[in-house]
Order: sequence, then C-alpha cells, then structure tokens
Amino acid sequence: MQKIDSYDFSGKRAIVRVDFNVPLNENFQITDDTRIRAAIPTLKKVLEKGGSLIIMSHLGRPKGPTAKYSLKHIISAIEEKLGVTVKFAPDCMGTEAAELSKNLKPGEVLLLENLRFYAEEEGKPRDLAEDVTEEVKKAAKAEMKEKQKEFTKVLASYADCYINDAFGTAHRAHASTALIAKYFPNDKMFGYVMEGEITAIDKVLKSPEKPVTAIIGGAKVSSKIAIIEKLFDVADNMIICGGMAFTFAKAKGGKIGKSLCEDDQLELALSILDKAKSKGVKIYFEGDVVVADAFSNDANKQVCDIMSIPDGWLGMDAGPETLKLWESILNNSKTILWNGPAGVFEMPSFATGTLKIAELLAQVTAKGAFTLVGGGDSVAAVTQMGYAKKVSYVSTGGGAMLEYLEGIELPGIKAIREA
Ligand code: AMP
Repeated sequence: MQKIDSYDFSGKRAIVRVDFNVPLNENFQITDDTRIRAAIPTLKKVLEKGGSLIIMSHLGRPKGPTAKYSLKHIISAIEEKLGVTVKFAPDCMGTEAAELSKNLKPGEVLLLENLRFYAEEEGKPRDLAEDVTEEVKKAAKAEMKEKQKEFTKVLASYADCYINDAFGTAHRAHASTALIAKYFPNDKMFGYVMEGEITAIDKVLKSPEKPVTAIIGGAKVSSKIAIIEKLFDVADNMIICGGMAFTFAKAKGGKIGKSLCEDDQLELALSILDKAKSKGVKIYFEGDVVVADAFSNDANKQVCDIMSIPDGWLGMDAGPETLKLWESILNNSKTILWNGPAGVFEMPSFATGTLKIAELLAQVTAKGAFTLVGGGDSVAAVTQMGYAKKVSYVSTGGGAMLEYLEGIELPGIKAIREA
C-alpha cells in the first residue's frame, strides 16, 4: 500500500474514485457541494506532483444511461474548484474514454461519465423479471460477475495508479471501489478523505483518550444495536436519545404514551442495559423530555419525565434537566462520538436538544476534547449551527461510517490494504 503524500505521481495517470454523488435541483444546479470540496485536496495533490487525473464517480441510482444523472452537470463545479479545465468522456467505457485517458498530459483532468450507467459497476443484474426461477437468477448473476471483471479491467487500463477517496461507498464491493484495486498491487492508496475518516474513527475505536462518551440517537434501536454493542468496548458513558430512548423507557416499565416505540425490541433493550452494566458502561436514557399532543411543529407541548408520559402525548425532544445532565457528562469527556438526533429536529419546536448537542460539542472541542460527528441528521445539525469546523471531525460516510464503527472491515478499505 502506498501513501498519497510519498507516492511519485510524476508523469503518471491516476484514476481516482471520488464520491461526487451530490444533490442537484430541477435545473441541475448543485445544492450542496460538500462532497466535491472534500475531494479537492486529493485531486490537487496529484496535479501538483506532476500527475494527471481520471476522475470516476456515481451519481444517483440510475438503471442505465439517464440524462438526469449525467456527471456533465458537475463539470463546471469541478473546474471552478480545481482551477483546471476538465475533459469529459460521455461513456466510461469505449474507445473515446480509452483515447482521452491515453492522451492525458501531466496536469490534465478527465472526468468519466456516471459509472452506474453500467450495471457492472455494482455487479447486480438489472431488469430481471420477478418471476424467473432461481436457476435463471443464478445464471444471470454469474454472467454479470464475468461482465463486471471485464468492466473493471477496462477502467484499470486507463491509469498507472489508483486512489480511493470515496468513503461514502467504501462499504460496497463495487468495481470502482474495491475490485479495481487488484490491478494496482504496488500503486494503490487512499486519498485524504479516506485517510481522514479512517484516522478519526480509529482514534475513537482504538486509541481514545478517556473518558469516552457515545451519544446515540435517532428513530430506531434496531438500526443501531450493532454500533451500540461495539461501542461498549470503548465507551465509559452512553447517552441514548431521540426516538429510541422510549423503547428503553418502556422496557424498564415506564409509561410512554404515544411515543415512538419498537415493541419487538423491548427484550433486546433490557439485554443491552444488562450488557452495559456488565461492561461498566453508564447508560443514560432517563430524564425529562418535551412531549407533544400531536406529531406536529405546532402541537401543544409540556415537559415531563420519560417514565411517566401522559396518555395521548408523545416524546419529541430532550427536556431542560436532561440537557443539563448531558452538559456535565460532555464537559467531563475527552472523546465524544455523536450519531443520531436527540429529537424530531426537522421541526423547529423540537430541535432544541439536537442543536444543544452540536453547541456543546463545539464548546468541549475548544477545550481539547476529540469530537467525531457522523450520520446525516447529526451532520446537518452541526452544519446548520455553523459548527462543522468547530468539532474535530465530521464524517461524510453515513452507512459506511456506521459499518466501520460496528467493526466491519469495509471492502473499499480492505482492497487498498491487502497485498
Ligand atoms: P435515524 O435515521 O435512525 O438516525 O433517525 C433519524 C430520525 O429520527 C429523524 O428523522 C428524527 O426526526 C427522528 N426522531 C428523533 N427523535 C424522535 C422522536 N422522539 N420521535 C420520533 N422520531 C424521532
């Protein structure tokens, strides 16, 4: 495995997998360019060191070539941020892409059209009728595997070295995120986005300064069990908040009114609490909550204990006493991981708890704590508050971050690391 900082790019063509899956409005204007900005340091590094670039990405979930999902919509944004003209291959396969990449000179940049215009990128057969037999399905899968190998080989043929800088898709074993790496046994490396994500998460999982506090929120316990259990290995405190707290409250005999609850997870919630006890992790889900008489921003609200919510009311946000408790826990923590909102933060009336966490994280970071924020809603909250630069690291990974935190070896990381 090579390092982007020490690799000699001079005269080499680098094929770089980035995550340029950016949101576009109906006029094909980029509404959030975070992912493009994130990849710029990696792309600039290659150019500065005398290399040329072949950029590849997916955009959306097309089922085949679709004008709406063309990467041509983002050419000007890349040009503007990179300060270089970007050539475009309107098909990531075929002679034009091959010629354009072969003729690249140091300092030049080529963008390939959306990889997912080909089913081969993901390696899953498309358009299979639902009623086909298992045998037909198996044959289609085998045929697709062969086609995927060919697709990967063609992509690899464009370049002399490979950089994976797409953390957001690192949990997928796709052609461009994992399979291609084997064509560059001595010339493959992570870009800065990948390096940054891995370093930040490893800092929490492998060498955290104690005390460690994990704040896990969001709607469902079921989607966060694996990460909760994994974090028991490193956390001293765990704050369970958002909709999932009510499943714990009910499991412990609380009256939770109409609050969100996964009744099929009550046993599991109790076993999580037992496990925390045996591992010496303090779990916090109790305290006061803001409840509403309807799931609406304009509903009537009041504050009550999470264990005794009146009939007909539902928990929507953390209460003021709970926020004070969290403040003291976070003030005494040296490492903090936050994933998932503390309430229905999309409604301004119930965003207080989530925004307060963002604010507290910014404060404790300034005092020297290491703070890692991940997951779409938590990232949106720190960004909305203008604190994205005031926490130690904001993970852009989403699903990839959760899987990495769960201890799963991500295919995109493994492919670069293995010999
Ligand atoms: P997740 O995708 O599991 O991280 O959950 C995020 C969602 O949880 C957000 O859309 C929040 O609105 C929702 N959520 C947070 N707290 C609550 C709550 N008390 N009741 C219902 N939904 C909630």
